[in-house]
Amino acid sequence: MAIIDPFKDGLGRGWKVFGGRHAGAQPLPERISCDVAIVGSGAGAGITAELLTQAGLDVLLIEEGPLKTSSDFHQLEREAYPQLYQESAGRKTADKAINILQGRCVGGSTTVNWTSSFRTPDDTLAYWQQHFGLKDCTLEALAPWFAQAERRLGIGPWLAPPNENNELLKRGADRLGIRAATIQRNVKGCWNLGSCGLGCPTNAKQSMLVTTIPAALERGARLLVETRAQAFEHDGSKVRWLDCVPVATDGSAASDRTVRVSAKHYVVAGGAINSPGLLLRSKAPDPHNRLGHRSFLHPVVASAAVFDQRVEGWAGAPQTIYSDHFLGVDPIDGPIGYKLEAPPIHPTVFATTMAGFGLEQTRQLKQFPHTHALLALLRDGFHPQSPGGRVRLRDDRTPLLDYPLTAFVMDGARRALLSMAELQFAAGAREVIPTHELARSYRSWDEAKREIAALPMKPQLTRVFSAHAMGGCGFAGEAKLGVVQPNGQHWQLENLSVHDGSLFPTSVGANPQLSIYGIVNRLASGLTHRLTGRTVSLA
Ligand SMILES: Cc1cc2nc3c(=O)[nH]c(=O)nc-3n(C[C@H](O)[C@H](O)[C@H](O)COP(=O)(O)OP(=O)(O)OC[C@H]3O[C@@H](n4cnc5c(N)ncnc54)[C@H](O)[C@@H]3O)c2cc1C
Repeated sequence: MAIIDPFKDGLGRGWKVFGGRHAGAQPLPERISCDVAIVGSGAGAGITAELLTQAGLDVLLIEEGPLKTSSDFHQLEREAYPQLYQESAGRKTADKAINILQGRCVGGSTTVNWTSSFRTPDDTLAYWQQHFGLKDCTLEALAPWFAQAERRLGIGPWLAPPNENNELLKRGADRLGIRAATIQRNVKGCWNLGSCGLGCPTNAKQSMLVTTIPAALERGARLLVETRAQAFEHDGSKVRWLDCVPVATDGSAASDRTVRVSAKHYVVAGGAINSPGLLLRSKAPDPHNRLGHRSFLHPVVASAAVFDQRVEGWAGAPQTIYSDHFLGVDPIDGPIGYKLEAPPIHPTVFATTMAGFGLEQTRQLKQFPHTHALLALLRDGFHPQSPGGRVRLRDDRTPLLDYPLTAFVMDGARRALLSMAELQFAAGAREVIPTHELARSYRSWDEAKREIAALPMKPQLTRVFSAHAMGGCGFAGEAKLGVVQPNGQHWQLENLSVHDGSLFPTSVGANPQLSIYGIVNRLASGLTHRLTGRTVSLA
């Protein structure tokens, strides 16, 4: 079956893409004027660009990553991580205890994400209403915005049977009497390859790369690639212009040229960590010391298990089964809860996430085809002892996240390792290996229970990672509680809005992409109306 690459066709028809080294690249201009300049091209940026261009606004998207499309995606980790991810998929928190996966390419993290789609949970929204004055963040008020995003992005039930990696989550949960259910995905005509994290080679994933960004380009939007929004020039109440710089594939400055962008309105959608980083570099007003604070990750711990049968966790749709059982054991503001999912497992990511070295690691890698993995997403941000992290700037002005793994978080990590081991043994595992430097391979649930209970749950010893950066530019009903207003507009800079995952005042408690699509859909429709008086909705 022929795979149509929308960019090949679109660039041929005159789509305006500047910078970078892709086929059809045009040189970066020195000065650009537009109605709205959007920083980023990921989840929040894509939705915003589609809506603004629908109202006839002249939109400019600025993306620091490269333009890579389905023709470039070869299902190879060695190509995907350096080309498509922030810091080659090796972005770390300041103490190097957490590895963070974030996209850095046209389409942002949506180009490489794993397609799980959940609406924002009701208890999360209730917490935002109560603690952050976000009165309109109710399930009912957001439902139409989610429904539109779901329609636009093909979000629906995954009807194919789960791969064995996910089936084992269901099997173990059933045997323990724990509820597990099917995850909705944003795909159309999915080939069930399992390489979503390496860029979808068939364009089945309805990422921003194949949906909203092409729609915006078709309506005349301009896109700068391999170009970083460096800093806003402002007078404390209004942005005057935005300076951008060309960057190399590894993120370093490619030249000392500056591209100056003048717009009537600016939308920051560089994702968590990067968006607060840009506003910190710009010395944006921050009278209540909120900028960069309350950055969340859903810190993740994982557990591998070896089965007699082949599992082949790299093959077939990732994350199609989940269990929220352990999010409901305690109240949302009690001991930290966690969501269980079965992630895709590819050799490089597996080898770098699993603990251990030498002969033991060789033994584990030899069993790779028989290996199953579970992960637990810890729901951070709802308890006083879970204030998340803080973004600050390195000497070279790039953003860095300090995220202390407190005893409170690590208590959840231990409980999660225990729950996953129990479930894996219930599913028939012959051995279970938690991702902890001092863990061994355990042969029974009794042994695992005793040993995991005694593991020192310390940063660096416990392997922690995250693909869900959120917060840092939180929205709130009062200026003292957040960086931006409930409509996304900056509390102090009147012609600047934030439209991405950095808006969330806590973690979501579910995979965040649909929360961003739905909430930004509402904010971007509102912005379009304020700028043009026109009502728009997702195509
Ligand atoms: C491997 C992986 C798997 C995931 N799986 C899922 C999943 O299954 N389900 C789910 O719900 N979520 C998943 N996520 C998370 C989800 O994709 C993100 O939460 C979401 O895309 C974030 O949207 P955003 O708009 O905040 O930022 P992003 O989508 O990350 O986009 C931000 C973009 O802005 C660019 N940028 C940043 N700073 C600048 C700057 N200064 N100048 C120019 N450009 C800049 C970045 O390069 C990036 O392309 C996954 C993420 C990853 C990395």
